[in-house]
Amino acid sequence: MSNGEKRKTDTTASELFQKGRRRKKTNGDFVAGVLGRNRTILSQTITLVESNLIDDITAAQEVLYHLLPHTGNSIRIGITGVPGAGKSTFIESFGMFLCNLGFHVAVLAIDPSSSVSKGSILGDKTRMEQLSRHPHAFIRPSASGGVLGGVGRKTRETILVCEAAGFDIILVETVGVGQSEGMVRSMVDFFLLLQITGAGDELQGIKKGVMELADAILINKADGENKQSAMNLKAELNGMLRYLKPATDGWTTRAYTCSAINGEGIKDIWDVICRFQEGAKKSGLFHRQRERQTIHWMYSMINDYLKARFYSHKEIQQALPSVEQSVLDGSVSVTKAVVDLMEIFEKKG
Ligand code: GDP
Repeated sequence: MSNGEKRKTDTTASELFQKGRRRKKTNGDFVAGVLGRNRTILSQTITLVESNLIDDITAAQEVLYHLLPHTGNSIRIGITGVPGAGKSTFIESFGMFLCNLGFHVAVLAIDPSSSVSKGSILGDKTRMEQLSRHPHAFIRPSASGGVLGGVGRKTRETILVCEAAGFDIILVETVGVGQSEGMVRSMVDFFLLLQITGAGDELQGIKKGVMELADAILINKADGENKQSAMNLKAELNGMLRYLKPATDGWTTRAYTCSAINGEGIKDIWDVICRFQEGAKKSGLFHRQRERQTIHWMYSMINDYLKARFYSHKEIQQALPSVEQSVLDGSVSVTKAVVDLMEIFEKKG
């Protein structure tokens, strides 16, 4: 699309919204706005995707259907690390570096604690101050859970919306404290684990298997007096990584150092990601991994959907307490109880 054409789409979309201030936006408005790279409509479309209202979910799916042909053209990078590892400082520095190279960068977040703390990541306004003002950057605070696939679905669909809006690099941040690392891993091409010296193996997930999800481990804060210990940790981690199965077949996960504050190592980690992307595209792995992720996502949504249908089924809800009792007093085996419940479920679906 030429610049002239792009501007024309923009104008059309904004004209639509000027005229239609008081009318409800149509799905076509959302599609035109996203493809026209209109920031306001992009945000509104993500809000639509994040909504738990049945009508909005239906509308969002229709909008996504029209956006799908324009998706997939980005590199999706997951970033995790314990609180204090420097994730937001790194994303600010890395994001600015990428924007200055001419890329359009979207930053999304999965916050496992958001329902409790009302958003501990990307929530505080002081984070990523420079990046949030850059015209090539788009920062979206984390979605909260809800129906039909919850946070995972919302983030996946937000990635697609951002791709349709022309973002070529999508950074998905998550706090490395819970189950969310696995969720992010399953939706990105490259997974980056930020570490710091002196925070303890236990805390940083070394023993929790998070290292096995990573395509690169980046030891941040390698500056000043901390530089030497960061180098030591790098050597130690590289030693450990030799014994681990790499997260991505055909790629060797290694440890690197950087300073998000002074910018050292930022270009190097981008070079690593570019090398990864080039190799994975050449071997077909990039495409295969995305296909696998999409199919995995479909099955996990089927599971969620069936589970929700089962437990909200009226007769199942009525039957469960007595079935539980029969299982406990030994009058019915667990297998027979499940088969009976399935029969109730399937009769009236
Ligand atoms: P997050 O919780 O992982 O997002 O971590 P923050 O980005 O908020 O950083 C936590 C603290 O570490 C802040 O005080 C930062 O200024 C500091 N910090 C982040 N990156 C660096 C770095 O590269 N070098 C040094 N010396 N401090 C850093």
